[in-house]
Amino acid sequence: MSESALYIVATPIGNLEDFTPRGIKTLSSVALIAAEDTRHSARLMAHFDIKTPMIAVHDHNERQQGQKIINSLAQGDSVALISDAGTPLISDPGFVIVREVRAAGYRVVPVPGCCAMVAALSAAGIASDRFAFEGFVPSKSQQRLNYYENLAAESRSLIFYESPHRIEASLEAIVTAFGADRPIVIAREITKTFETFLSGSAEEVLHQVQADHNQRKGEFVVIVQGAPQADASLLDADATRVLDILLEELSVKQASALASKITGVKKKVLYQAALEKKVD
Ligand code: SAM
Repeated sequence: MSESALYIVATPIGNLEDFTPRGIKTLSSVALIAAEDTRHSARLMAHFDIKTPMIAVHDHNERQQGQKIINSLAQGDSVALISDAGTPLISDPGFVIVREVRAAGYRVVPVPGCCAMVAALSAAGIASDRFAFEGFVPSKSQQRLNYYENLAAESRSLIFYESPHRIEASLEAIVTAFGADRPIVIAREITKTFETFLSGSAEEVLHQVQADHNQRKGEFVVIVQGAPQADASLLDADATRVLDILLEELSVKQASALASKITGVKKKVLYQAALEKKVD
């Protein structure tokens, strides 16, 4: 390796055959590997016969270890950052280090590979053109419910990470917040022996998970289909007339709010229609 750099290396999320040749080569050739959990990663290193020394980097020592990494880079050495599985920084440590290494003027190079949310979305059969990755949701039940409720009107597909001991309660909260009929997919143990994709309405998936304790084991990605977008073409003539008159005097926001009060049509539908009229 010519110029020293920090390499952000994605590792497998289950199936070791998913480790890329470039990822293996990078870990073998750097001077130091910063790993989330060195004991956990020791198995990966043994499997691929990688002998590079490791240091531990986790949420509580990122700043301090960042300085060690910068010192290595300053000596002309290259360093790799890995997490326990998948892509570092994606619901994993590393952001502070990447920011500080960049600020210190060194190259940061991605070595891409597995990422559970991308793998889940790629095979879920849920719209993948626009999505929001939310990572882990709050663990306390009321906070989690509020969190989901705030996302209920989001039209992009929503992606969450969930743990086995919370999956059932989390699905119950999804049914409450997004409605029993909202289509969802849960992707379990991706790339591993018991890989399973369950899909259907939120209520159907919850029942499948409740009925079979095996479906509560392992690691999960939960994908919730986005809320249907308001269809402005559904406005009737009366609502359109009211909106047109109000738009002559008021902003899009004010006109759609007032038109909603007058006509009883949903504010979101009127807002969308008002936006389209302004563009026309
Ligand atoms: N950095 C990782 C990535 O790129 O996906 C994610 C790390 S995060 C600490 C771990 C969470 O990712 C798990 O709790 C689970 O929600 C999800 N996950 C990781 N591996 C998975 C797999 N094989 N199948 C399903 N979900 C997985």
